[in-house]
Amino acid sequence: MPLRLTGLTRTELTDLMVQWGEKPYRAQQVWSWVFVKLASSVEEMSDLSKPFRARLASEIAPLRPEVVSHRVSADGTEKWLLACEDRITMETVFIPETSRGTVCVSSQAGCSLACPFCRTGTLPLRRNLTAAEIVEQVTFVRATLANRGIRVTNVVLMGMGEPLYNLEAVTQAVRIIMDGNGLAIGCRKLTLSTSGVVNRMEEAGKNLNVNLAISLHSVRDTVRDQLVPINRKFNLAALKRAALAWPLRGRGRITWEYVLLDGINDSEQDALELVHWLKGIPSKVNLLAFNPWPGAPYSPSSRETMLRFQEIVANAGLVTIIRDSRGGDVGAACGQLAGDADLTPPLHEPLAHEESSG
Ligand code: SAH
Ligand code: SF4
Repeated sequence: MPLRLTGLTRTELTDLMVQWGEKPYRAQQVWSWVFVKLASSVEEMSDLSKPFRARLASEIAPLRPEVVSHRVSADGTEKWLLACEDRITMETVFIPETSRGTVCVSSQAGCSLACPFCRTGTLPLRRNLTAAEIVEQVTFVRATLANRGIRVTNVVLMGMGEPLYNLEAVTQAVRIIMDGNGLAIGCRKLTLSTSGVVNRMEEAGKNLNVNLAISLHSVRDTVRDQLVPINRKFNLAALKRAALAWPLRGRGRITWEYVLLDGINDSEQDALELVHWLKGIPSKVNLLAFNPWPGAPYSPSSRETMLRFQEIVANAGLVTIIRDSRGGDVGAACGQLAGDADLTPPLHEPLAHEESSG
């Protein structure tokens, strides 16, 4: 297997250069080409000697995934379908906002958790993405947009997959993405979203200095059992304990994601119960408009219902925003990612994750 530079931390790259018999400053040069100047190939690394470039070119894997498709929404959101070396595809979304630009990256191809409102949940889990594949989604989007003068300032691990079921690769990728001498995405600009994999949250909290978002969607076990099936394994009480144990640095808060589904979890009573449940947890609530997809068994709540829900939560003193859907017209919104044009049939039976629910 050729080596993937995009999956190495700066220390690991330095060790590799030493193993190769190179001076340590070589590592700094290569690192800077990959993560600061965002070179797309070794040929661009013009200050490296020809023999060294030849060695690099022969030993390392390409620095970029292949673009299978690219769609741009009327609201400026962009979605890429990117192919890995084995033709498995991953989806990456860029969401431009006035003061920031956010890349939403995938952590798995598919997902082993079948939340019924999420299109990714209808796909089998193909495999975990490697740290390099996660990082390359960021380097690729940043390089592509830099050519157009657009800045990538934030990263959210909210694309396809459950990041805590790929914790090792995600941890390595986060280290690389946060390196101040490279992509330099700071801890306040990096958010990981989990459906509530309680038994991985303690380890994640120790290793990852990122904002945590938790997909809540209901504070009644009977309802959450249906919407987020992992709740049957780790119920709301267990989730609350894990959230309370999450190391919030400084003035941090847990972000709770709550997708409003018509007639399912959007009543005034639901809003009051949510407020009650969140008492004592430093929290921020993101109300998500449901993004429909073909065959989805739910519909979005009306605007009035969403505003009323927000009002109740806000009146209780909680920071509450309605996250409007972005990129819906090109299937780039939360929960619409389906890896549409997967290039190959599965190479093997879909991996049922050992800890998947059900
Ligand atoms: N697996 C992780 C991260 C990826 S999903 C998780 O579940 O948190 C990112 C967010 O999109 C989650 O909050 C999820 O609940 C939400 N989501 C999924 N499908 C959606 C849909 N159709 N409309 C709106 N939000 C959706
Ligand atoms: Fe997987 Fe998250 Fe979608 Fe649930 S909401 S199926 S955990 S990607």
